[in-house]
Amino acid sequence: MIGNALVGVRTPQWAALFLGLLAFITAQTVSAADCPGHPGALGTSRTLVVDPRQHPRIGTMQYAETLPLNDHEVVLTFDDGPLPRNSNQVLDILASQCVKATFFTIGRMAQAAPEGVRKLRDAGHSIGTHTQNHPSRMNRMSIERARQEIDDGIASVKTALGDDTTLAPFFRIPGLSRTEAVEDYLASQGIQIWSADFPADDWHHISPSRVYDIAIKRLEANGRGILLLHDIQARTVAALPRILRELKARGYRIVHVVPATPEQPATPTEPQQWQLHPPSETVAISHWPKIPNFVFASAEMLPGPALSDLDWRQGQSMTLAEASDHAGRPGGRVPLPREAPWPRQSSLAPGGAANVLPVPAQSIFEIQERPGAATQELATPSHRAELPVPTERETEGLAKLISVDASESPGTIPVPVEAQ
Ligand SMILES: [Zn+2]
Repeated sequence: MIGNALVGVRTPQWAALFLGLLAFITAQTVSAADCPGHPGALGTSRTLVVDPRQHPRIGTMQYAETLPLNDHEVVLTFDDGPLPRNSNQVLDILASQCVKATFFTIGRMAQAAPEGVRKLRDAGHSIGTHTQNHPSRMNRMSIERARQEIDDGIASVKTALGDDTTLAPFFRIPGLSRTEAVEDYLASQGIQIWSADFPADDWHHISPSRVYDIAIKRLEANGRGILLLHDIQARTVAALPRILRELKARGYRIVHVVPATPEQPATPTEPQQWQLHPPSETVAISHWPKIPNFVFASAEMLPGPALSDLDWRQGQSMTLAEASDHAGRPGGRVPLPREAPWPRQSSLAPGGAANVLPVPAQSIFEIQERPGAATQELATPSHRAELPVPTERETEGLAKLISVDASESPGTIPVPVEAQ
């Protein structure tokens, strides 16, 4: 009886101590345990389950809300794939570090390389979409066409996956060319729009080391956030191992984001965790209204360039808060963005076929290190004789569009890596 009484009293204490120790050990070994053969791997620190209907638009580059990340937490995102030649390498690199990411795939790319989409799924990454054809001016499309792009992209990726359940209701607008109508449509579909917190400018003609520099400096400026990368870029493949090593060295942790399901409810969060980070914690909010000028004036702040880099003309004269009220509104002050500092705009025929593809796919598909390699891959259907779509003509057209656009890639876009 005495013994039992003692046990009764002490068990909770010992149990608490044991469980605490177990939790500590588990936390310390999660990377190694999850990453056999890579004891020093960066790993994925946690999975964040989000409800798109509760938070339909995220990413401080354009919206008031972003993912509820803690300090030094990072979410990696990769756009425009799959392009097996480079995307597979990205997958290998992520696997070697047991890092889970979110991929925004293009329907047409999924048609060309459906196995590439299935590899994303099999590796446990989240898969969102990025339209069917990556239109360069989605903000100037009719909503009917925009909806078609969105719907077709989803359908193509689902077909590639061969199931209806894997695809996450996550979407990134090409070039971040948002409009209210597109946002409303996506919200009506329960799809979460992912802008980003900062890009690494990896679609530009810059070196891998520059991609690395930009990624790390912008991350350090923000302290956390959603990093926008492109898995189809060779320079990104080259930069990624170093980026991941540096994240580990600087104490950053990777967060994997998945959508809520009936079986997996959203991670409990407080509303303020989704808000722009307080000014005391990051420079982003205090400089937000200056973002359109930031590209030219304040390189150290870093989050801004992507707005114009990504051809986000609608944001030229807007603050974040204003953006959702003005951009894309028919009859509003839409003409103003036409004065955006992006001269190559006029070289692209408005509407019609020219609305299909490039920005930022411009150099997205163009590989600096091996010029034409990616486009050649796309345009060489002999290697893909078994694939039903896209047709040879389509892929060649794609390559041409990319080539034309890449040749006009503006060297004028300041890349603020000189910032300290
Ligand atoms: Zn894109």
